[in-house]
Amino acid sequence: MKAVILAAGDGERLAPITQTLPKALLPIGSESILSRQIRQLASLGVTDVTVVIGYEGHAIREHLAASNPPCNVHFVENNHYKTTSTAYSAWLAADHVRGDSFFLLDGDVVAVDAVFESFIALTGNTLLYEAKSISSPEEMKVAQDPADGHVYLSKKIATDRSLGEFVGVAVISAEANEAFFAALASHKDGYYEEAFNEIAVGHPFELQAVTENSWIEIDFVTDYLQAVRLFTETREEVAAPQVSEQVLLCPGPVMVSKKVKSALLHADIGHRETEFIEILTRCRAKLNNVYGANHEYTNVIITGSGTAANEALLSSYGPGKKLLILSNGEFGNRLLDLARCHNLNHTALEFGWTHPMDLAKIEQTIATGDYDALMMVHHETSTGMLNPINEIGALLKPYHVDFLVDAVSSIGAEALSVEKANITFCTASANKALASLPGLAFVCGKRSAFQALRDVPAHTRYLDLYRHYEFEDLHYQTPNTPAVSLFYALETALDELLEDTLEKRMQHYGHLSSLIRNRLKKLGMSFPVEEQQMSRVLTTVFYPADVDVEGFHDWVKQHNYVIYRGKGPLLGRAFQIANIGHVREEHVRAFLDLMERGFQLKQSADAVVEAAAT
Ligand code: PLP
Ligand code: MG
Repeated sequence: MKAVILAAGDGERLAPITQTLPKALLPIGSESILSRQIRQLASLGVTDVTVVIGYEGHAIREHLAASNPPCNVHFVENNHYKTTSTAYSAWLAADHVRGDSFFLLDGDVVAVDAVFESFIALTGNTLLYEAKSISSPEEMKVAQDPADGHVYLSKKIATDRSLGEFVGVAVISAEANEAFFAALASHKDGYYEEAFNEIAVGHPFELQAVTENSWIEIDFVTDYLQAVRLFTETREEVAAPQVSEQVLLCPGPVMVSKKVKSALLHADIGHRETEFIEILTRCRAKLNNVYGANHEYTNVIITGSGTAANEALLSSYGPGKKLLILSNGEFGNRLLDLARCHNLNHTALEFGWTHPMDLAKIEQTIATGDYDALMMVHHETSTGMLNPINEIGALLKPYHVDFLVDAVSSIGAEALSVEKANITFCTASANKALASLPGLAFVCGKRSAFQALRDVPAHTRYLDLYRHYEFEDLHYQTPNTPAVSLFYALETALDELLEDTLEKRMQHYGHLSSLIRNRLKKLGMSFPVEEQQMSRVLTTVFYPADVDVEGFHDWVKQHNYVIYRGKGPLLGRAFQIANIGHVREEHVRAFLDLMERGFQLKQSADAVVEAAAT
């Protein structure tokens, strides 16, 4: 058995959702509409599916190529999808199903498995319909001629004469195949129902009824929302959450394990109930562990991105203090931005992008006795440089200067112990080396330092760090509505890390980054940061002189790898390959092979151009 799916239309009535995505690729749970149809057809024994594509057809091709369909898939392009309709699209598929019986499906029909199962063993002409009274002129109705009993389709049938609504799924028998395509050929400017009606006399259709709510045709946003509501809570979607199809080699958000994603499907809970108190408390305890903190430390979890943690810290701790802020890249500069935003009394000590921090200069500045605190980034993500927090922490100790560290992209990947590094407060977020989802940020700090914030007037309501501390540490609650689901993902990711151990993770990340760096060097490429100063999760590399920067990014993206463009002074000169989060060795190796192939292709193309010119 074969099938033809009509998926060429631009789904105009679903705009703006369909502005970039063809309707057939809308997700229903973990699958697109199209993948769902193909899976259901394949489970009936369909071996060959022909998809008629038009609008954003390349996206459909790529989607199916990446999703490993369970049967053969062929494509036919309707290049006139803007001016033609279903008859022309269906006619284009003729060669792929000639002589066979086949299913004909609208690409916007979502149905339960049972609807398809009702087809098993049917090979005669069949139309699926739902018996109901419909008056909308938009819907395709089914009726039966009272005189000769022939079934026919039309949007124009009066309510009292229609049997119900056509589901957009039919079987054309082998015996009717030729007549059907001949009829389509004579109605190429119109709709396929004209061909159904034309052949119905010589090749009668059987009607097969489906039950209410077992299917839906997605024309409008409300249909889509209803489909999601009706069809995403079935067992298969709950058991198999979406697996990312792109390999993220960018420095966060990162890929996460299936287990972390599945954790989102927890039971609904109220955040003022014991269930939330328990998960909040467990996450905080596990985080303290990951931070390498002893009993003097505690932490708060803020719903927000990494910047929420930095802003909570600087806006709550900074007023009335004199701060020294170090920077050697974009994220150091962001700390300076925050200090400016909150009018903090601060001095910038800038070393320049890709330059290591000068410890003697730092000590000299601190020795003036002018500063209450020093803040810096541990892993400067914009360059991949790992800054020496242990040395700087030790250097500050005799001066009794507070030490504030942004460990957003180092926690979970690099040796970090707030206790050993003499850190007062340390910020981080869930979505980098902790390999969880974005949306939760942390401030770990000495309990005494949190308590000292009590008498500082709040400068923001949401990011008042003392308020977070008071709620979380004293009442086991969050001050505002937390992103409840993300706590389940975070706890799973923390468990995975603690079971795996930080040491093993560091080895794993170190191994991956060595693979990357060794291959890049073999290709003759160079780095803006000295290798011994790089973190183990990110490699910034200069583009080879003749490689088109945007073109390279887009080319690897077409192959489903996401890398990062350089920022600031590295913009257009370097790119970043991260191996952070749930990246596996096979991802890295496949990417490196692809990159090498890309450069070879480029060289051979250049050689051809050169040869042609001489
Ligand atoms: N600090 C560092 C070191 C980072 O790498 C980032 C983001 O990449 C941030 C802060 C800001 O985090 P977010 O974008 O989550 O607010
Ligand atoms: Mg439709």
